Amino acid sequence: MTRETYGFRRFAAVPDTEPDAEAPAYRIECVVCGHNGPLAEADKEQSAEAQDKASRKAQQEATLWVAQHRKDEPEHFTYRMWSSAPVRLEPGAWQ
Ligand SMILES: [Zn+2]
Repeated sequence: MTRETYGFRRFAAVPDTEPDAEAPAYRIECVVCGHNGPLAEADKEQSAEAQDKASRKAQQEATLWVAQHRKDEPEHFTYRMWSSAPVRLEPGAWQ
């Protein structure tokens, strides 16, 4: 008879700051009709300052869709910006 032993560990979802992490991305949604603009991904940068600048640029790109949408729906005035941030699972101690 073979006995098996199992180990358990918890994982935590943490911000992914690794060099291969996904880039932040942004999208605008019209709150009135639920239509979305295209996804605008920020360029990946090495420093936090450069990454903030790239993220602001991507946010501005995402908002360009609002002008297009208002040509079709001139009465739609309310929008929300969705953003994504990279997250990875970090393994905890074996229990
Ligand atoms: Zn709309």
